[in-house]
Amino acid sequence: MKPSDARFFDASAIGLSGLCLLHCLALPVVAAFLPALAFWQASEWVHVLFVMLAVPLAGIALWRSHRVSALPKALWMLSAGGVAALAMGAIGWPSHAWETAITVAGSVLLASAHAWNWRRRHSRAKSCV
Ligand SMILES: [Zn+2]
Repeated sequence: MKPSDARFFDASAIGLSGLCLLHCLALPVVAAFLPALAFWQASEWVHVLFVMLAVPLAGIALWRSHRVSALPKALWMLSAGGVAALAMGAIGWPSHAWETAITVAGSVLLASAHAWNWRRRHSRAKSCV
């Protein structure tokens, strides 16, 4: 795997988590001043779309890194926890009152997993020089 491929998948996944955080945390504030954006804030399909994009991105990024050098179990668990929380937020489980908090937690967990993966790859590349 070319390092640029792995960087692309980790960067995309971190960017997606950032978009999710913007949607959940910043958009409600912005929509208070720009009511036209309230549509996006209330769009629950956005969370479903995030999950549908996050699952393959995380899977490809982590699996490709794992094939080069086995990932620690904690990194897999961090990623799985992030995806599970994003999915729970997308379906509004256990209740819609928790949707934003669970989605934000999932985004942070998943972004942390990808940042960790990025850092591992970077430090491994340095040690090979
Ligand atoms: Zn959101």
